[in-house]
Amino acid sequence: MARDALMDYDKALELFEPVLGFEVHVELNTVTKMFCGCANSFGSGPNTNVCPVCIGLPGSLPVVNEKAIESSVRIGLALGCSIAETCRFARKNYFYPDLAKAYQVSQFDEPIAYEGSVTIELDDGTSFEIPVERAHMEEDAGKLNHVGATGRIQGAQYSLVDYNRAGVPLVEIVSKPIYGTGSRAPEVGRAYVGAIRDIVKSLGVSDARMEQGSVRCDANISLRPRGQKELGTRTETKNVNSLRSVERAVRYEIQRQAAVLAAGDSVTQETRHWHEDTGVTSSGRVKSDADDYRYFPEPDLVPVTTTADVVEALRATLPELPLAKHSRLKAEWGFTDLEFRDVLNGELLDVLEATVSAGATPQAARKWWTGELTRLANAEGVEAAALPIAPAQVAELAALVAEGTITDRIARTVIEGVLAGEGDPRAVVESRGLAVVSDDSALLAAIDEAFAAQPDVLAKIRDGKVQAAGAIIGQVMKAMRGQADAARVRELVIERATGN
Ligand SMILES: [Zn+2]
Repeated sequence: MARDALMDYDKALELFEPVLGFEVHVELNTVTKMFCGCANSFGSGPNTNVCPVCIGLPGSLPVVNEKAIESSVRIGLALGCSIAETCRFARKNYFYPDLAKAYQVSQFDEPIAYEGSVTIELDDGTSFEIPVERAHMEEDAGKLNHVGATGRIQGAQYSLVDYNRAGVPLVEIVSKPIYGTGSRAPEVGRAYVGAIRDIVKSLGVSDARMEQGSVRCDANISLRPRGQKELGTRTETKNVNSLRSVERAVRYEIQRQAAVLAAGDSVTQETRHWHEDTGVTSSGRVKSDADDYRYFPEPDLVPVTTTADVVEALRATLPELPLAKHSRLKAEWGFTDLEFRDVLNGELLDVLEATVSAGATPQAARKWWTGELTRLANAEGVEAAALPIAPAQVAELAALVAEGTITDRIARTVIEGVLAGEGDPRAVVESRGLAVVSDDSALLAAIDEAFAAQPDVLAKIRDGKVQAAGAIIGQVMKAMRGQADAARVRELVIERATGN
């Protein structure tokens, strides 16, 4: 694959203004599919959750999943959208091997939710208002598995199709064009998709796992010369499956398109594929605005009617939305902007909340999750929240430190034990014999031994050179295998040496 020329990012921003647009697909976590009774579950054996309806056999008839409608309305409300009193499904006709019907049931000119907005916050606290054009319902297609060295269609020996995902309910959230982001376009993209993910997660309507594809994003990016009104030609980068990838893909497209335009060429209107491994996008298929899907109202389904009463009842079920929750918790916990941002960026909010509920102070919970546990998780290449240690266990660890049973340093050994499956922190402390030696007589015995070994140091302390005590404290701590309170040891050393 030939490498595209890229323009320096800052230079690209001097010359051009980026305009963004996002289509975010959210897979709903209903028990059954959109129009049939098949299970909607991730990870089942290939083609085990299928029936005549979801693979479109002639004569089969779809029935709308009421729960999917409710979830869609709740998403629309959380995005500040108006909810259509009546809306219809439409057939979007196209052929693709994972679409057995050769059409997708979607919504066209009558989406269930329209005209909303999402407030997002960047790392430094700057907010942006992202206008939402619509949120509509549709069914997902199946999935192709390309068999070959790369796992991609290029170079595959053959491909297999799995229809388990065909007919899974989706809500597609379409933003309006996003202007005025300037050089912060990549961050805005990341924060917007992150905000949508957090919202649907808080509503409980989706698993919201980008790595499993339950939230997927297509990013539209175009550039126009600074000062020009008319929009430039856009590309659509498909299926960007992590927040970090959204940021990187937007940045890449800005640099690539700027180089194309600066060379006097024009940007091709096309879909592009994001390659996570190499950090580049590559050309997909050429896409014109005149793509004709020959939409027509789905004749097998009646229109969906949503009364004001139903909408208001669903509005009453909305939880505290993420942005409001973030500012509440930040204030309650007394965190600085930076401390709170670390928690959010580490995807640690849920575990932190659970650790605080289990009795830890917010600062102790933050310290362990963003410190030692994140360090261990990074070394393993996993998320800290995915480590085999429960919030309640972290709270117990913090309590052991607070009550003086173990020191911070010993706590790290206790974490090792918990992660190794040796049980709760208290059990690890007991089985590994890690409790701090708080028995003064044991400490004094060790101190006397250290004095006997280093009589010159003892003499110095007696002469009032208390800074010399460090050598004795070090030896005692070593004898206690680190399991002593160094401040207490210091007190005892000076008392013992000077007799006060
Ligand atoms: Zn089915």
